[in-house]
Formats: sequence, C-alpha cells, structure tokens
Amino acid sequence: MPDCLFCRLAAGEVPASIVYEDAQLVAFKDITPQAPTHVLIIPRRHIATLNDLGAGDEALVGEMTRRAAAIAKEQGLAERGYRVVFNCNADAGQTVFHIHMHLLGGRRLGWPPG
Ligand code: AMP
Ligand code: ZN
Repeated sequence: MPDCLFCRLAAGEVPASIVYEDAQLVAFKDITPQAPTHVLIIPRRHIATLNDLGAGDEALVGEMTRRAAAIAKEQGLAERGYRVVFNCNADAGQTVFHIHMHLLGGRRLGWPPG
C-alpha cells in the first residue's frame, strides 16, 4: 500500500517519533496528541480497518495490546490508568485507514467518549 501514510511511516519514509518497533509492530507519538501520552501502535502489515482482521490475526492484535500495556507501564501510567482505542470507519471518526491502537493517558479521561 504505497499511498498509505502509516505503511510509509512504518517503512521509514515519513518522519515519526518512534517509541518502539520490532518486526511486526511500530509505536509512535501521535502528531496531534489528545492527552499527555498519546501513542499509536500499528502493525507493519497493511490492514485498513478492524473489519479487515482475519482469522490469523489474533496474535497480532494480542501483541499490539500487550505492547500498549508495556508502553503505558514505561510511561508511569500502569497504576493510575490509561485507555486504548481503535476507531473503525466513519461513525468512530477513523481518518487513517491502516489500523492503529490509540494509547491515551496522563490525564483524567471522560466516559462515555464523544
Ligand atoms: P483515527 O482518527 O483513529 O484514524 O486516528 C488517526 C490519528 O493519526 C490521529 O490521532 C492523528 O493525529 C494521527 N496522525 C495522522 N498523521 C500522523 C503522523 N504523520 N504521525 C503521527 N500521527 C499522525
Ligand atoms: Zn497501510
């Protein structure tokens, strides 16, 4: 997906403030942070939305979730709390069509979300 922003970011073609990367995942600071900690965790492989996850993707999503928890812990958020969110399609406000888990924390987060 050469025209996908997050594929290009994962390939190093778009600058990013990367906080973690491995063979499968990249985590980087959101360019428009909505909380003191706002990190996006993405798979290197292009998957457009949550609706496009396949039967073999359980481990990938599990690794994304565990990585979010590890980054939250590194940032001192584990005890006070944090939130992880996937937005899917228009009603949720998805703007980049390469799945990304938002990790938000460092302030009191409202519920329900807007
Ligand atoms: P969503 O609305 O769930 O699709 O979230 C997309 C997120 O990507 C937004 O929070 C944007 O601020 C963020 N974003 C867009 N472009 C970049 C970029 N080049 N680097 C980091 N974050 C970005
Ligand atoms: Zn992509």
